[in-house]
Amino acid sequence: MLANIRIVLVQTYHPGNIGASARAMKTMGLTELVLVNPRGFPDAEASRLAAGAEDVVDRARVVASLEEAVSDCVQVVGASARLRSLPLPHYDEPEAMTRELVANAGSDPVALVFGRERSGLTNDEIRLCSHQVSIPANPEYGILNLSQAVQVLAYETFKAWRLRPESEYRLPRPAEERQPTREQMAHFQEHLSRVMQVSGFLTQPHARTEAQLQALFARAQPSRKELSLLRGLLSSLEAAASDG
Ligand code: SAH
Repeated sequence: MLANIRIVLVQTYHPGNIGASARAMKTMGLTELVLVNPRGFPDAEASRLAAGAEDVVDRARVVASLEEAVSDCVQVVGASARLRSLPLPHYDEPEAMTRELVANAGSDPVALVFGRERSGLTNDEIRLCSHQVSIPANPEYGILNLSQAVQVLAYETFKAWRLRPESEYRLPRPAEERQPTREQMAHFQEHLSRVMQVSGFLTQPHARTEAQLQALFARAQPSRKELSLLRGLLSSLEAAASDG
């Protein structure tokens, strides 16, 4: 079950942090590590700091974009020390996040995403997430080292998994409750934008309106079934707009 829970590190600068993150993961039963454009990998320092978790480092998948790392996931939680202005659903408490993460992971892949040592995640990268989480910390100095942030959230994930309700763990989610993948959500957003243009609602691409609607649908968390209902509605509006 923990095999559905992926740790994604975006453009890690220090290879040692990759090794230390792999170790943090393995101690908590997590094995799926995806690296988006790491500066140096493979690297001896990564293997050295991994200690007994070298297998996690060896199996790590390297990809060119965050999109590629998470498009098949149904929940993507960006870890961020600072609250951004983006109105994505935000978990103030890691426990609340990991309960949902573990429940979703019963049927589908999910991901925890960590940013660069210096600059964290970009706004575009956060837009690819479905949720954000912060680790509560000292308001005067609350930024953790990357691999320590991985350790805290990996621990919380393991705890939620140990305490998972039997019913959620044993039975996969019923089809009508399954969440859409990020790719399905992205296709829906593209469809919505197209319909807003052909209908004349937007006379030119308007990033802000699109971002607001994206945030609305992120908060609504439609199931796969509800999303396909919305797609059907868009298709019929699209057809009506092009007929008129
Ligand atoms: N200067 C960067 C911090 C990067 S720390 C910034 O301001 O965003 C590297 C990564 O560790 C972050 O991108 C985040 O994923 C994680 N991290 C560090 N402290 C965290 C905290 N308190 N809560 C959640 N994630 C944290």
